[in-house]
Amino acid sequence: MTQIAIDRTTTPKQPPADETLAFGKVFTDHMFLMDYQEGKGWHDPRIVPYAPFTLDPACCVLHYGQAIFDGLKAFRGRDGRVRLFRLPDHARRLNRSAHYLCIPEIDPAMVEESIRALVEVDQRWVPSLPGTSLYIRPTVIATETFLGVHPSSSYLYYVILGPVGAYYKEGMNPVRILASDKHVRAVQGGLGAAKTAGNYAASLFGAEEAQKAGYTQVLWLDGVEHRYLDEVGTMNIMLKIDDEVITPPLNGAILAGITRDSVLTLLRDWGLRASERPIAIDEVIAAAQAGRLEMWGTGTAAVISPVGELGYKGERYVIGGGKTGALTQKLYDTIVGIQYGTAPDPHGWTRMLGNRLGG
Ligand SMILES: *Cc1c(COP(=O)(O)O)cnc(C)c1O
Repeated sequence: MTQIAIDRTTTPKQPPADETLAFGKVFTDHMFLMDYQEGKGWHDPRIVPYAPFTLDPACCVLHYGQAIFDGLKAFRGRDGRVRLFRLPDHARRLNRSAHYLCIPEIDPAMVEESIRALVEVDQRWVPSLPGTSLYIRPTVIATETFLGVHPSSSYLYYVILGPVGAYYKEGMNPVRILASDKHVRAVQGGLGAAKTAGNYAASLFGAEEAQKAGYTQVLWLDGVEHRYLDEVGTMNIMLKIDDEVITPPLNGAILAGITRDSVLTLLRDWGLRASERPIAIDEVIAAAQAGRLEMWGTGTAAVISPVGELGYKGERYVIGGGKTGALTQKLYDTIVGIQYGTAPDPHGWTRMLGNRLGG
């Protein structure tokens, strides 16, 4: 593997106080860059001071959206050590997204090394207040200058980092979600299983309508029958009816969430019944009306997001009295415990950074 060149900034910034952190607003001192050129492959891996790019106005990513990303976090434990959560899984998923977008594969070992090396350079930016973390955003964009639809012959892989605040500042907060029978996020055979820019553009209009109707997120139903659950907002959806936990199968229209996988693994560890099967909105509503439903979303940002209310065709259904369910809370506490190193990590999900705080 090619050595990563490191050019350190001469004007380091002051990281904001942990208490003031939000999400996605502040970035660290450095970024990782690596270029791809047809015939030459991926080359020139380097860490440089964080700075804007210059792109030609005809740069193809700006017109045709050949762009992918991933999102993971580093946590500072009470012991001061920095842990990366499920790094190899995120590296693999970045390459799966690349595959769907005709972007050349990046050696997964280089993806892991780019992230590990960058977090190490900027490790003073990993906050330590409980609930805070360092968000890591690996991204690939197509960089050839042309108008016309075909895969680019050149790409830029880059990684940026930003400290982020606690998602739940005072206890978990159940959200209200609206099942849309009008808007769809993705369809089977499309790009729903890739973390690609266009999927988020496709979600904006429906999300805005849900917000106008007083909901936090859209519960996306399948694009053909508008009947089966796909995802919620930018999270995977899970629910518990009686003693069965159900989540939609990886059918090509939904993203293979790594938190989804962590939750399924834990549930099976605990001897609970966890099914990956299609689930119709009518089944969910019947369970809600009978008071047999617990429901939550899973994703890196919130880890677990309890659902307290579901809207569908003009009706509102309160779930679990609008409160966080017991299993929802247990899943959240367990995963967060692993991330901060206060709970055992039997599956080896965390990777420790070499140096200690300030090292
Ligand atoms: C990122 C994402 C998820 C959650 O994936 P995690 O790996 O758990 O963070 C789910 N759905 C969509 C559409 C996403 O973009």
